[in-house]
Amino acid sequence: MIQEYDIGDEKVFLIRRVIEVRFRRETYLELLKKYSKEEIIQFAEDKRVLHHATKRNLHYITKESHIPLFGHAAFGLIDRGTNLIQIRPITGCNLNCIFCSVDEGKVSKTKKNDFIVDPDYLLGEYEKIAGFKGDGVEAHIDGQAEPFLYPFIEDLLKGLRKIKETETISIQTNGTLLNESMIDRLENSIDRINLSISALDRETADRIYGVRYPLEKVMEMAEYIAQSKIDLLIAPVWLPGINDGEMERIIKFALEIGAGKKWPPLGIQKYIPYRGGRKLRGVMSFRSFYQRLREWEDEYDVKLVLSPKDFGIEKRERYPSPIRRGEVFSARIVLDGRSYGERIAVVRNRVVTVLTDRNPGSRVKFLVTRAKDGIYLGEEL
Ligand code: SF4
Repeated sequence: MIQEYDIGDEKVFLIRRVIEVRFRRETYLELLKKYSKEEIIQFAEDKRVLHHATKRNLHYITKESHIPLFGHAAFGLIDRGTNLIQIRPITGCNLNCIFCSVDEGKVSKTKKNDFIVDPDYLLGEYEKIAGFKGDGVEAHIDGQAEPFLYPFIEDLLKGLRKIKETETISIQTNGTLLNESMIDRLENSIDRINLSISALDRETADRIYGVRYPLEKVMEMAEYIAQSKIDLLIAPVWLPGINDGEMERIIKFALEIGAGKKWPPLGIQKYIPYRGGRKLRGVMSFRSFYQRLREWEDEYDVKLVLSPKDFGIEKRERYPSPIRRGEVFSARIVLDGRSYGERIAVVRNRVVTVLTDRNPGSRVKFLVTRAKDGIYLGEEL
């Protein structure tokens, strides 16, 4: 579980393939005279903790940290007023997709910090919201991340299954970290994998994913999932001018391997440039997008224009949201923020992202400028 190596003048411990704990070698050797390696990793203050894939600071969020799991778009839990609860256990991605709506990966220009949530804390808070929602909840693991980088993913999935309101467990993934034995182990813990494959052509795939993309492996995993008890939905993003020719290839591939046993086999997404995401030139109109999908629906006899109903998603009462847009608060900054120029404050047991340059520990007065779907944003006054 722990690898150790040296980089420059630093001693590095890599825990569960994701959490890098780094010490100046001199400091580490000094500490080693008095303490065990495990004690140093756990308790020494003079260390840097980084996300192995992104090399950004990694903040570990536990119950004892008193940082709530409601209110942030990047970590914790999100309720958008349905029976689906989004679960975001980690940030950070191993790919650098040119269309990434959250500017993730090592090449990100906006992201400053990563977060990882303790699985017991996450499960405890999920149980509260699932209890509030009632039976028939879909636990959907996604995020500003590749969720399989979460080192406790198997514990999380198994824990979700034990919670009585959970009916469906689904997860979004780029598929690069999957392997056959993992899929075998998770057969009873996941109901559906939403796998993003946006090109079957090697050159196009490398261009889209911003890395040397393991195309053959991801295709093999897709086939393996389709043959398992887990349902497979292939979710390409259509990037006009870049992967136009790939959409039909992906439709044929999904149908050939038997994706979509219970739910639709494909979820073709339209590229939309988001604020804070990576921007591409070509943007298709919704009209042309849906028109093309309808033509392919007829040609391939497959459902491509999807609605929440196709996944059993229905409206449900929202979990209480105690903060309103327009409210003004003065609160202590508890953590540096996800992006440059952001900090995290806590108000009424919710996390608020505040646009400020003040240091963690100091107080900030701010106006709440966004309070939609229980995600809060504030601007310093
Ligand atoms: S896999 Fe998803 S999170 Fe990762 S870079 Fe691509 S779009 Fe962004």
